[in-house]
Amino acid sequence: MRSEIIKKLMQIAEKEAVIAVQTGNSKRPFGAVLADKTGKVIVQVGNTSKSDQDLTAHAEMNILRKAFKKLKSVDLSSYILISNMEPCSMCASASIQAGIRTFYYAHSLEDKCNPHLSLSDIIKKSQGKFTVKQLDIQN
Ligand SMILES: [Zn+2]
Repeated sequence: MRSEIIKKLMQIAEKEAVIAVQTGNSKRPFGAVLADKTGKVIVQVGNTSKSDQDLTAHAEMNILRKAFKKLKSVDLSSYILISNMEPCSMCASASIQAGIRTFYYAHSLEDKCNPHLSLSDIIKKSQGKFTVKQLDIQN
């Protein structure tokens, strides 16, 4: 995809992020766009965690939910995701599950929401606040 198309899509994501802040949904601006490979916007939305009373309503999660409904498919492998911010591990994982292979973002969240964390990394970074145990269902 041409860089000027990606820049236009990123501007749309930035506008959605501004709306998310203006509507009180986020302290930090988060907005995202799903586009097809020609750059046609399929879905655009920002973070709606506060208005939806849903901590998983990050811009990228909202994009995926809306796209699944609109496209009547959970396979988004033909689309690209553009977000103004680096995705958190939840959004990155969900994007991978949905088949997204190309994800553009503009601003890094650095170490706070590293999308490349494994479960063991997340547990380590939680400093004892998050525990996961695998059940032994054989016994
Ligand atoms: Zn997220």
